[in-house]
Amino acid sequence: MILAQWQENPRPAKLSEELENGIVRCHLSPRNCKIRPGKYGFCMVRANQNGKLVTLNYGRSVHATEETIETEAVFHYAPGEPILSMGNIGCMLNCDYCHNWKTSQARFVADGDVWNYTPEQVVEIAKSHGIRVISWTYNDPVVWHEFVTETAALARQEGMINLFKSAFFISPEAIEELLPVIDIFSISVKSMDPKYYRRLTKGWIEPVLEGTKQVYAAGKHVEVSTLMVTDLSDNDDTARAISTFVGEQLDATVPVHFVRFHPDYKMTDSRRTPIDRLESARATALDMGIRNVYLGNVYDNDATNTTCWNCGILQVTRYGLNARLVGVNSTAECTSCGAPTGMKLLPPAPRPTTVDSLPDQYQVADFTWHGDIRSLHIQLLNEGTESQVVYQRRFGDPAAGTAWTPLPLAPGESYRFAAAKATPDEHGVQVAISPEGVKCSLHEVFDRAHFPTVEVATGALNEDVTPFPSYAVTAPNRGATFLDITEASPS
Ligand code: SF4
Repeated sequence: MILAQWQENPRPAKLSEELENGIVRCHLSPRNCKIRPGKYGFCMVRANQNGKLVTLNYGRSVHATEETIETEAVFHYAPGEPILSMGNIGCMLNCDYCHNWKTSQARFVADGDVWNYTPEQVVEIAKSHGIRVISWTYNDPVVWHEFVTETAALARQEGMINLFKSAFFISPEAIEELLPVIDIFSISVKSMDPKYYRRLTKGWIEPVLEGTKQVYAAGKHVEVSTLMVTDLSDNDDTARAISTFVGEQLDATVPVHFVRFHPDYKMTDSRRTPIDRLESARATALDMGIRNVYLGNVYDNDATNTTCWNCGILQVTRYGLNARLVGVNSTAECTSCGAPTGMKLLPPAPRPTTVDSLPDQYQVADFTWHGDIRSLHIQLLNEGTESQVVYQRRFGDPAAGTAWTPLPLAPGESYRFAAAKATPDEHGVQVAISPEGVKCSLHEVFDRAHFPTVEVATGALNEDVTPFPSYAVTAPNRGATFLDITEASPS
């Protein structure tokens, strides 16, 4: 087996069964791949090495990124809370429209996008930046099982919360190993149509629904989201079927999110989901009694806000990835009528003290929101041996403050965080860095829960366009020296 760089140092994998003739069976996802020696499973991040099942992506991650919990279609747990998003490589599905295909489909992964972390480092990053929630997300955390369970357990010992954002094509025995360490499950149910699952995701629906019921029955916080793919699933039938599942098999109070699609991967000849179809789907779900139904990847739309189910007052306002509690008290009741919201809140956390002016010599870079680009990943590297402070602020909204928010960087630290448009009038974001040894790169985010791998090119900034990701699906890139890929053998 020739290994691409990110695949070096395989680790023993859990949920393995040894069969005869050196063949192993993996029980992590419902595929139950039977893998011959020297071959890979369907996800291409688990393999048979000398008759043993190994995981190839232990600790191999895209850059850890600070975002907010709204990124993960979680609206009823600590609104506005910062999270540390951890994504990895590979997936047990292969959806034609995947928004994260450059990392979910292992053969397209570039070594330059892959970072190595230990469980201790992940927890330390979160701690040192005051982040209380770790989110296992992006491609799909199912195929990162060993690293997720180990790190989540460590994070729990430090009093942190773990969030699992997944398509949840996972085996019941793997779920049992997640339950002791995961607090929040944000589950993407792609459709309620078995044929849709087979054709577009290459998986099947039954384990997804059974797994969702399993974690809900275990008392976990669950939210359900559905990507409404234009002309395929963006209709009232989808809304009715999802609502029936949630209302009858979970509970009508479980939040449901209908998420706007953008063309990507094998479906670049499509178009964004029309807003009126999303609104119609939401109205259908509300009519069927689902209490909290939201739209995702939409702006300037009341369907992102929370109102009281009892008296109707506004309780949480959301704009993009930002949220503000305006009608919920500290014990999660309505400030007007006292009805329980069903939300889970965390105690208030200290926030950094802002400053009105920058230290001497700092250089300021502007980024202006444009088209559908309303959020940005900002990646910083402190190349020096001294601690540094980077500052950021928003500009353009006269009603907003002009103070700078500091971000400390330890010597040698690389840190990535998301900045998202917070008000309709805001023009953009400014980042101020000391020229002494701090490097900064920007990565446009096109819709939430997406890890951008392409750096904004000089000169491409601030054009007033609505860019669609134009990542052509080309031959597997340099990092992917896979040999003789074994087709999965479902049991
Ligand atoms: S696709 Fe699923 S069953 Fe197959 S190797 Fe990957 S995790 Fe295991």
